[in-house]
Amino acid sequence: MQIIQKLQRIALYQCTPLREEFLNRTLAKTIESLKDCTEDGEYAVYGTIKGVDGGADWFIPTCRCGSEVIPRNGFYYCSDCKKCVVNVIPRYRIKARVNDASDSATFVIFESLGCLLLHKSCSEMLKLSEGVPVGCEQPDVFKQMLLEKSFIFKVEVKTANNNDFEPFYNVIDICFNDRIIAKFMEMHSSFFSPQTDKIIGYSTDGKTNRWQCIVLRKEFDCGLC
Ligand SMILES: [Zn+2]
Repeated sequence: MQIIQKLQRIALYQCTPLREEFLNRTLAKTIESLKDCTEDGEYAVYGTIKGVDGGADWFIPTCRCGSEVIPRNGFYYCSDCKKCVVNVIPRYRIKARVNDASDSATFVIFESLGCLLLHKSCSEMLKLSEGVPVGCEQPDVFKQMLLEKSFIFKVEVKTANNNDFEPFYNVIDICFNDRIIAKFMEMHSSFFSPQTDKIIGYSTDGKTNRWQCIVLRKEFDCGLC
C-alpha cells in the first residue's frame, strides 16, 4: 500500500507540470488566430498532422555543435565552428502540415520531438530508409506514426516569419496525453467545429496516446489529467 501511495505521489509530481504547461501556462490558439499574432510568443494549438512537406527534406545534415552544415567544395562546412565537418550527423527537421477546424500551417518538428513521435533517432530512420525504393522520399513509418495523428503542439511565433507567404512555426513541445487533450478541448470548445469533434473523439479515445505519454515522456498516468 505504501508503494502505491508513493507511486501516486511521484505520478502527481511528474504529470502536473505537463498539465499546467499545456492548459494554464500557455495561451491556446487556433491556427487561424496564430497567423494573426502580432507579438512573438509561445502558444498551444491542437491539430492533426495531414502530411509532411518537402519530399525528402525531412532531415538536415548537422555539425556536432548542432548547427546545420552546408556543402562547400565537396565538403560540409559549419559556419558556427568555421571549419569543414567530416562526421555529419543527420537530424530531423520535419515540416508537418497541421490542420485544425480553422486553417492549416506548417509546424516544424526538430530532432528531440521527432524522436518522441517516431520512436527512432534520425540516424536510425535513415538506416531504415536505405532499402526504400528510389522515388519513395519519405519512410513508410511516417504514415503509421505521423499522419492523421492529433496532438497539442506548443509552438513558437516569430513575427519575422509572418512576412512569408506561408508562415511556419517551430514546435517546442508536444502533448500526447489524451486526458490533457480532452481537457484542452473542453476548455476551448469554441475552437472546434462538430466535424473536428469527431476527429478528436477518435484520437483521444485511442490507447496509443496514453501509451506514448507513459513510455515516451516517462510519466505516469496520475488519474488526474
Ligand atoms: Zn559546428
